Amino acid sequence: MRTLTAIAGNTQRLDGGSMFGNAPKAVWQRWIEPDDDNRIPLACRAMLVREETRTVLFETGIGAFFEPKLKYRFGVLEPGHVLLENLEKAGTPHEEIDVVVLSHLHFDHAGGLLSPWTEDGDLTLLFPKARFVVGQEAWDRARHPHPRDRASFIPGLNQLLEESGRLEVVTGETSEVLGDGYRFHYSHGHTPGLMLTEVAMAGGPVVFAGDLVPGMPWVHLPITMGYDRYPEMLIDEKKVLYEALVPKGLRLFFTHDPETALAKVKVDERGRYRGAEGLAEPRDLES
Ligand SMILES: [Zn+2]
Repeated sequence: MRTLTAIAGNTQRLDGGSMFGNAPKAVWQRWIEPDDDNRIPLACRAMLVREETRTVLFETGIGAFFEPKLKYRFGVLEPGHVLLENLEKAGTPHEEIDVVVLSHLHFDHAGGLLSPWTEDGDLTLLFPKARFVVGQEAWDRARHPHPRDRASFIPGLNQLLEESGRLEVVTGETSEVLGDGYRFHYSHGHTPGLMLTEVAMAGGPVVFAGDLVPGMPWVHLPITMGYDRYPEMLIDEKKVLYEALVPKGLRLFFTHDPETALAKVKVDERGRYRGAEGLAEPRDLES
């Protein structure tokens, strides 16, 4: 049996226009209200799956590794490492997590792997006993970024993961570390090799949607982010995922939605895909 819980991490505020790609502000401001600087609040939420004998964490959010100037730039307001605090409150401190799965290594997904920033600038890896699962293409991209997304990666993180001796870089649909009940889908429209994990659950599959579908408004096929490399490709990839899994009761776990952690994907009366039955805090959802 598995249970699934959402664990909140540090939040960010990013430019609303960048988050909604070519959607006009008149449209997106109805979904998430911007502040006076046109920024919108975004979560960096992790998904915790508890099994009988181990715990698996999907992503670690932005964390607190940024120096104060960069924290300010990305609108991170909390002083500490919120995910660590919340893992502790949930009874699973980071020292006890067995597996951490990373969809890709952009800093707002992997930064929480690191200890909070200090004056001396040393970065240390948290999660001392966890195995880390990363897709091959996402791993390669972090080692050799493109000029367009170089600033989204954390220098030195690859080396720390490699030196831990606890890294599994996966190429196919499954992971040796994770084993049965977990299957990967890959998407390339946001970043090469974005790895989306499908978790088999009793009420239908749950997919950790990463940056393919960062929140409820992006469930709708044409809505993409300005950060995506190939928005049209991303739209086609969303459609393939929905067509395969919506008939089986697909639920998406959102890392960035400020309100909703988990929702069903349904087809409305006009044939459009929509998020439905959203849950703000799914707690111990059972498999
Ligand atoms: Zn990303």
